[in-house]
Amino acid sequence: MKGTVTVDEALCKGCGLCTGVCPKGLLALSTRFSTRGYHPVELVDPDDLCTGCELCSVICPEAAFTVFRERAAA
Ligand code: SF4
Ligand code: SF4
Repeated sequence: MKGTVTVDEALCKGCGLCTGVCPKGLLALSTRFSTRGYHPVELVDPDDLCTGCELCSVICPEAAFTVFRERAAA
């Protein structure tokens, strides 16, 4: 199943918790700074491997993720 996520950089504190739980290893801290002075996390998924499993969203203490998942065919 395919999915994707977006990160609200205004909420992300760059703690890195989510980078360790993504089973596909798709999350990485950016080298740039957000407006709050943190390194925000980014989805790096050139091969569309995100499944929308929500593990990143569940572990994020700042609720910075929005998860999208393709609807299964009926
Ligand atoms: S767990 Fe949340 S706050 Fe921490 S780096 Fe990931 S998105 Fe940012
Ligand atoms: S939804 Fe799952 S696969 Fe997609 S970025 Fe988050 S942890 Fe990784």
